[in-house]
Order: sequence, then structure tokens, then C-alpha cells
Amino acid sequence: MHPCSPGRGPGRPPRTATVVGSGPNGLAAALVLARSGVEVTVVEAASGAGGGLRSTTDSSGVLHDRCATTFPLAQPSPFLRLFGPSLTGRGLRFATAPLDAVHVLDNRRSAALHTSVAQTASGLPGRDGAVWKATFGPLAERAGTVTGEFLRPVVHLPRHPPVFVGFGVQAGLPATLSTRRFRSPEARALFTGVAAHAFTPLDMPASSAAGMMLTVAGHSAGWPVAVGGSQTVADALVRHLRALGGTVVTDTPVTDPGQVADADIVMLDTSPEAAAKILGDRLPGHVARTWRRFRRGPAVAVVNCVVEGGVPWSGHPAETAGQAVTVHLGGTAEQVAVAERECWSGRLPEHPFTLVGQPWLADPSRSVVRDGRALHPVWAYSHVPAGWEGTPRQTFDLVTEQIERAAPGFRDRVTAWTASPPSAVASHNPNNADGDIAGGASHLPQLVARPRLLHPYDTGVPGVYLCSSSTAPGGGVHFMCGMNAAERALRGPVSGRSAAHR
Ligand SMILES: Cc1cc2nc3c(=O)[nH]c(=O)nc-3n(C[C@H](O)[C@H](O)[C@H](O)COP(=O)(O)OP(=O)(O)OC[C@H]3O[C@@H](n4cnc5c(N)ncnc54)[C@H](O)[C@@H]3O)c2cc1C
Repeated sequence: MHPCSPGRGPGRPPRTATVVGSGPNGLAAALVLARSGVEVTVVEAASGAGGGLRSTTDSSGVLHDRCATTFPLAQPSPFLRLFGPSLTGRGLRFATAPLDAVHVLDNRRSAALHTSVAQTASGLPGRDGAVWKATFGPLAERAGTVTGEFLRPVVHLPRHPPVFVGFGVQAGLPATLSTRRFRSPEARALFTGVAAHAFTPLDMPASSAAGMMLTVAGHSAGWPVAVGGSQTVADALVRHLRALGGTVVTDTPVTDPGQVADADIVMLDTSPEAAAKILGDRLPGHVARTWRRFRRGPAVAVVNCVVEGGVPWSGHPAETAGQAVTVHLGGTAEQVAVAERECWSGRLPEHPFTLVGQPWLADPSRSVVRDGRALHPVWAYSHVPAGWEGTPRQTFDLVTEQIERAAPGFRDRVTAWTASPPSAVASHNPNNADGDIAGGASHLPQLVARPRLLHPYDTGVPGVYLCSSSTAPGGGVHFMCGMNAAERALRGPVSGRSAAHR
């Protein structure tokens, strides 16, 4: 049946589905559909399944994640609560490092995020420990409820109103206001660095949302990596899909509705721009107009390095940064806020906010020893303006300069590297247009309407749904754009205006 004609008749359950794109959201959508008895085919443009879960081993035998590395939102996600046991049986395994994240302010000061709220609190100066505990402790105890309420479209009838309001009010604040509850530069920087994962100016309303969610989730299950690399997450999803009768076809970009014409349901794990191209003039005008207004966010400039002996963190922060799977660089809360605002406004900051991943601290199997030298994978990216046009060399220099400030001598330890400016990030995966890895900006309008208010997953074409991180609840590996979209698809093919148009 053609998905762009009125789909299956009322009452007839869907029998077949095509999922375009095999990122975590596409595969999650595929599993939810397959579990309901739908025969699913996943069609992927790249040569392997996984999208942002891609890992590769280099010629020295060191294993690198090319995109996502840490998964704070995966384990507390309703998707893994449902599929976790099956996926564990198919090779999914998470591991954490001694510390989840460390924010380096300068060579004297740092702040550490432990999985334990109490340990995090005890490392913060003065009364800030008690404030951290009071802010995150009660929510972390109900992390499953928080993720159940907020890893879905914001506009919904809450199942747990006290948690919804308690978390929602704090998440709705600008991060620069949230941090005023702390007195020390350390606590302020720690929360700011986590909030900066959203790529949103930190003085904007709701710029606390990512910080709240990643901190609360981290205090429940840590910031783990996947043992054996992020690709193992995709591999486990694909194995389970095959066990449920599904199929994955790679090396097949979908550009035309004719390629997905036979399915009762079509799920698009693509950007709205790509979805609009695939659907062509079948896309209703009001949806096309809303999607055209959808704003992309700032970009990343990424490096993957092989580092002999690991990162030589210096000064006082060395003690903590040397144990953390993720290190945030960018100075004080105020300095990070200025840099994030610059990126958003299209200017390259002097010292962009930079994340450094040291996944081998959680998963030593990624490193190798060659001629008595320990070689470790270090992954890092700096926030840069959308479409920043650096070369790979300039990307390497930009990102490693930020690391050198906290770890002098870092470059001397790099034995091999690759660097991806925004154009390369986009060319690996069309969903990362202009180097934006979050599926679109995550400022308040697009937290509420992502990419459309009330109908985040509907394309307006009966039977065809959007399920990528451009839909609610947004970027990061939590699988919930895919799961929510598939549940929407199973409820029926017709949405709001398109029903009226039939
Ligand atoms: C460098 C980098 C670092 C990151 N770090 C983290 C991290 O540490 N933790 C975290 O949680 N998240 C991280 N992310 C973000 C995370 O990877 C994404 O949020 C997540 O992968 C989004 O999943 P998705 O399924 O929506 O899309 P994607 O993972 O982007 O997958 C989309 C897939 O669809 C395919 N596709 C697109 N269009 C078509 C088409 N027309 N036809 C066929 N196939 C198509 C693409 O090839 C791709 O495989 C990172 C991303 C990048 C790039």
C-alpha cells in the first residue's frame, strides 16, 4: 500500500513498516513496531547500521566512537526499561568510570560529578554541597519517573504531577539563573557545563533543561559507555530486530517515496528537511511551512586521537580529570555562557566550550599496548558556530588548544588523529546538517514544538511519521523519539489537519 495515499483502513492493524535510517531512534522505532507484530524493514544510507552509534578500530587497534560515547540518558529511558533485558542478552553492556564528569575551571579548580549525589555534594565547597543535594537528591530518587515524564513531548497530561511540576519549574529556568543557587564557582561551573550539552545560550529560558535531565539521570545510573564501543548498542538493537523478524538493508539512501511505497507505516529517522524532500508535494503545506521554520543549532568540531599514556591533566584538577569519562573545558560558568552565546550568534569564541571523552577509563578494552606503550582513544569536540568552515588541521588545532590549556604537552602524546569540521560531521550523516548533532536547536520554542506543536511525529501524510532527534524529546541517545513515534504510528495513521484533508 502506498504510504502517501490514505493508509490502512480503519480497524486493520498495520502489517508492514519501513524505517528510513538506522540511528538509535530508527532502530528503537523498528523494535517497538516489530514487537507489536509488524514486519519491519530498516533502510539505511550508510554502509552500516547505527547512525550516531558508529565505532571503528584504527590501524593501531585502538577503538574509537565516531559520534556518541557516553549514555547518561540510555539506562533511565523507558525504552531500555522495556527492551534492556533482551538487549543485554544480545551483547549490550554498559560500564562507568570512577567519575562521570569533571569540569575544569583553571589549573587550580575543578568540580566532579559522581554517580552518587552525596559524593558529588561532599566535593563542593561550603554550603553548595547541601544545595546540590537538596536540588538533585529527591529528583534522582525518582529518576525513572522524571525520564518517563520528560523523555516525551513536553505538552502532555502528566502522570505524576508533583514530579512534573517540581522538575519542570527548575528546567524552565535560564541556566544562568539556576546557578545562582550556588555560591562557589565550582558548583556553578559544574551545572553550567552539563547544561551546555544543549548548545543553547545559557541565559535563555529553559536552558537548564538539559542540565537538569543529564544530572538527574547521571545520579541514577551514571554516565556510562558501551563496553566494546557504541556500535555494540546498534548491533544489539539490530540482532534483536532480526530475532523479531525484521530486516536491515544498508547502502540505500532513500530519496523518493516510491522506495517506501509498499509499507503500511513509514518511519523517517531523518531531518525534517530530508523528510520534506522524500515526501515532495505530498507534504501538506502547513507542515512544510512549520518544518521550514525549524531552526538548526550550533555545530561541533570533532577530533579522535590516539594518545600515548592518556591526557596529561595538570595542576590540581589532574586528580579528578584523570578519572572522569567526560571532562568539560571552558572555564567558569560565566566564561562558558559567553562562549555559548557567541556560537549561537555565529561567532567562533576564543575558547569554545569543549568536551573531552576518555572512554577507556570505563572500558579498558578500547586501548592497546604496543611496544610497551599504552595507547588510548581520546575523543573531543568543541562547540562552534553552525557551518564553521575550518579544515581538518584547523579543527585539530582548535580542539587540542583547549585541551592543552588544561593539559600542557597533550599534543606531544598524540600518535595519530582524525579531525572532522562541521562539513565532515554533516557529510557522514545527513541528519547532522551544518555540523549540528542535536537534530536542531533546543531552545524553548523547539523544546515545546519539536518540530511541531501537538503533532511532533506526524508528517500530515497518512501512515508516515518522523522519528529522529528532530522530534520530541530531542537529541542524545535515549531512543525515545523512535519509541514515542512508533507508539503514535501504532495508534493510527491519520493526524490532525491531514485527517480533515482526506
Ligand atoms: C560527534 C558526535 C558526538 C555525540 N556524542 C553524544 C554522546 O556522547 N551522547 C549522546 O547521548 N549523544 C551524542 N551524540 C548525539 C547522538 O549521536 C544523536 O542524538 C543520536 O544519534 C540521534 O539519533 P537518531 O536516530 O535521531 O539519528 P542518527 O543517529 O543521526 O541516525 C540517522 C540515520 O539515518 C540515516 N539516514 C538519514 N537520512 C537517510 C535517508 N534519506 N535514507 C537512508 N538513511 C538515511 C543516516 O545515515 C543515519 O544512519 C553525538 C553525536 C555526534 C555526531
